[in-house]
Amino acid sequence: MIPMWKALKVIRTTCIKNQHMPTSLKDAYLYCPRCGELFAERSDSLSTCSECGLHLYHSPKPCVGIILVGDDGKLLMVRRGRDPHIGTWDVPGGFCEINETVIEAAIREAEEELHVKIEVDTVLDSLPEKYPYNNIEHSILSAFVIARIVSGQPTPDDDIDDMKYFTAEEALGLPFGFPSLKKGIQMYIDERKKDTP
Ligand SMILES: [Zn+2]
Repeated sequence: MIPMWKALKVIRTTCIKNQHMPTSLKDAYLYCPRCGELFAERSDSLSTCSECGLHLYHSPKPCVGIILVGDDGKLLMVRRGRDPHIGTWDVPGGFCEINETVIEAAIREAEEELHVKIEVDTVLDSLPEKYPYNNIEHSILSAFVIARIVSGQPTPDDDIDDMKYFTAEEALGLPFGFPSLKKGIQMYIDERKKDTP
């Protein structure tokens, strides 16, 4: 006789696999990672284990988006070579690592993705975004920074399948996979206007 919880697990897992839309974190992680009990309470922000008391927070992961300004004032945009949103345009950047600031993450990502050294001039606001990955809808919080290259010629890594300089106004019209990118570019345009007498 299969225990009820195991039967439920199979049914839920099958349902998740058959969905075409990414599953929310609360529906993707049904079991406590510490004791294995089915979560008794699940919300968009938190799942709570009634057995061992674990609180599993579904908080967004911090990321950085680099608005990389060239000598002529144009922005270096990249086209994504990997999912999520493969083939759409993006700014260089990525996930912050443990014990890393947003600025440190930007410098590391520029080295890894473009093989250039950058200097961050301004940290703008951050924007919430969805990040569909492994058929799960993760949440990210992307801080946008304004930076420039201080050494090296941009050479794209495997994650990038094309790169090109655009004016900020042109960049606004690019096909983005992540809707927050348009807002990030707009933040840059607004910031630039403040500096213009
Ligand atoms: Zn537990």
